[in-house]
Amino acid sequence: MLPKVTKAPLKGFFLSVLFLGLILESKAQPPNSTHGPNQILMKGTILTAKDSAEIANSNSMVNAGVGSAMAKYGKANQLYYKMIDSLSKIIFKHPYEDSAGLSYGTEWVGTPNMGLRRPNFVVIHHTANNSCEETLNYFATPGGREASAHYVICKDGTVHHMLNDLLRSHHAGDSKWGNNTDLNSSSIGIELDNNGYQPFTEAQMNSLTTLLERLKTTYKIPAANFIGHGDVAPARKADPSVQFDWKALSEKGFGLWYDDTTNVEVPQNFDYLMGLRIIGYDISSPASALTAFKRHFMNENSTIINAEVRKVIYMVYRKFE
Ligand SMILES: [Zn+2]
Repeated sequence: MLPKVTKAPLKGFFLSVLFLGLILESKAQPPNSTHGPNQILMKGTILTAKDSAEIANSNSMVNAGVGSAMAKYGKANQLYYKMIDSLSKIIFKHPYEDSAGLSYGTEWVGTPNMGLRRPNFVVIHHTANNSCEETLNYFATPGGREASAHYVICKDGTVHHMLNDLLRSHHAGDSKWGNNTDLNSSSIGIELDNNGYQPFTEAQMNSLTTLLERLKTTYKIPAANFIGHGDVAPARKADPSVQFDWKALSEKGFGLWYDDTTNVEVPQNFDYLMGLRIIGYDISSPASALTAFKRHFMNENSTIINAEVRKVIYMVYRKFE
């Protein structure tokens, strides 16, 4: 579901993008590099710039011809380049800009020992829209709530990669998981085209799995860090819906799941809210946290707590101890 975005102060925005990496053509190349300009350098890793939907849509090269998404959204793609250009200017302003008014900028000593920050979470959404096109148009338009996602996956399995994985997308809004209070800065946002009441299609889930495999491998994202928007914003969001099969996803290594609860004895003193907190949920609204947990792990929309729910919370909690 699309996030409600509160506009951050300009300074906060600059700081949030300051360290994010860009493809800087030859400027990113170390001396004697044999790697071309289409490669992004990360410490210990070299990624090709073709790191996107091209792989998820694995059978073909990017189709940029007449009628293609790239042609249809040409104006939006130009706006993307403008944005990248303005962000790169900020990064070129060495620590002078980063020092934000303090005197450190004048004492700047550069270091070449750096890399790009990597996403460490994946947040999955459903769009709550009626079509992929509706979502793409919304995300491609400046202004409004300024919402976006790194990826949009349509019902037919087509993957639209909307911005570089290493940039901050506005997809999670106000969010909290554990002590992380800015999921947008540390996560990849994936939107699944779905109005919130439909089943997710097989083609969509296949594309999602391919994409998640790539993200997990490339950025070394732990299995526990594949979560839903409703998990990180339980009082505001309910996506992906109960129709989303987190269990199947966990069996492929994305998200954690619990073991058989049949013979489990939950300790008398087990505080289920503390259990939810340790898993990662914001428990400032206990009913919302419980609802989010049940949606994710029990495919239910309810706030009922009973012996079975306590068992499931306890068993998930054990995975996060
Ligand atoms: Zn969402």
